[in-house]
Amino acid sequence: MMHFDKLKVPAGGEIIKVLNDGSLEVPDAPIIPFIQGDGVGPDIMRATKIVLDGALEKVYSKSRRIHWVEIFAGEKAKKQYGKYLPADTFEAIRAFKVAIKGPLTTPVGGGFRSLNVTLRQELDLYSCVRPCVYIPGVPSPVRNPDSMQVIIFRENTEDVYAGIEWEHDSTEASELRAFLSKKFKIQLRDDASIGLKPISEFGSKRLVRAAIKYAIKHELPSVTLMHKGNIMKFTEGSFKEWGYELAKDEFPNETITEDEVYENHGSQPPVGKVIIKDRIADSMFQQVLTRTGEYSVIATSNLNGDYLSDACAAQVGGLGMAPGANIGDEIALFEATHGTAPKYTNMDKVNPSSLILSGAMMLEHLGWEECAIAIRDAIQATIGDRIVTYDLARLMEGVSPVKTSEYALAIVDRLKY
Ligand code: NAP
Repeated sequence: MMHFDKLKVPAGGEIIKVLNDGSLEVPDAPIIPFIQGDGVGPDIMRATKIVLDGALEKVYSKSRRIHWVEIFAGEKAKKQYGKYLPADTFEAIRAFKVAIKGPLTTPVGGGFRSLNVTLRQELDLYSCVRPCVYIPGVPSPVRNPDSMQVIIFRENTEDVYAGIEWEHDSTEASELRAFLSKKFKIQLRDDASIGLKPISEFGSKRLVRAAIKYAIKHELPSVTLMHKGNIMKFTEGSFKEWGYELAKDEFPNETITEDEVYENHGSQPPVGKVIIKDRIADSMFQQVLTRTGEYSVIATSNLNGDYLSDACAAQVGGLGMAPGANIGDEIALFEATHGTAPKYTNMDKVNPSSLILSGAMMLEHLGWEECAIAIRDAIQATIGDRIVTYDLARLMEGVSPVKTSEYALAIVDRLKY
């Protein structure tokens, strides 16, 4: 039985259930919590709800709707609860299974970890899923932005993001340096800070499993394991080995390795098989620019994925256009990929597309694909009509920017079904 300290759950809504096979049973009026977020969060969340509610009404008339419930994190939570991440917030996301959030400020001062990283780790949302797909009309710094159709699966709970690190002058760092010296004859400088990079077989395999399942479900051509295993052999290198092992053990009929395609199939991939390949991280950054169309799903460790997703997003219009989701076995938390852009707080100015497109991903997750498509088409039509916020307007000739709220209403006007 769920118990909340301060939250008010709307009457009339129903709970999304997770079935034994991991699939969702979605009622027509699901309760979905939202975290408004700090900085520009309120502006982009307002715009997102206008577009999502508008699209649901357009596509399903009154037969499907979301019952929103506000939950709190960040500065608003600090005011209401005295803490940045109250128990109510975790309880609500665990109970309602699907949620959406705006960006959160990482509180300044000693002892605070990023609220986003804490949410991902506490709720075990191990896949950070970031599609980087071009919307025609969006200004881009590259010549052929439409060749990018990449979905990044970034491992979300391990690697140097596990938060295991000590300052150079701490007792822990000093003891660890002494231990390494005595036990393994490893000499670190006396003023070296130390961080650990745990990458496990369990963590790697469940991430690669999610990536391969996604590729199979969406009939995508390949999953690339991106790693830096030539240098970090037992963390990044093992990530690659475990990825290949998992594909062979769990998806022998659905996948084939790139080597097998060359050796046994004259370089022609057999129809209907997902090719599993790997690339070294540094090479991957140039490959997504020079041979963009050769990559589809990319599965990678936490830090690589963080860097790569911003680089890929830049090719298709920047952070203001890039959606994302953090997904675990039962829970999915959709979010804007950019930060709180504090200098634009309450100016009704920034681009809400990142959060709106994350909302479209959320509808797809619920199985409401037609509504997600309607939103993407309406965004494309809006940008095609040169109605854009400041970030895109400054890259387009002769275009005056509209406000966040005006952009949202323009999208609603262009919703078709
Ligand atoms: P940021 O908030 O992403 O903003 C950096 C710049 O990106 C902005 O100044 C703006 O560029 C552009 N930008 C970001 N969002 C945009 C949007 N919706 N539309 C148009 N342009 C947009 O990064 P930051 O300044 O490094 O971080 C600020 C705070 O956010 C920090 O506290 C950080 O910890 C937090 N953060 C949170 C998340 C999250 O919640 N997931 C992610 C990253 C950072 P111009 O100045 O060129 O206009």
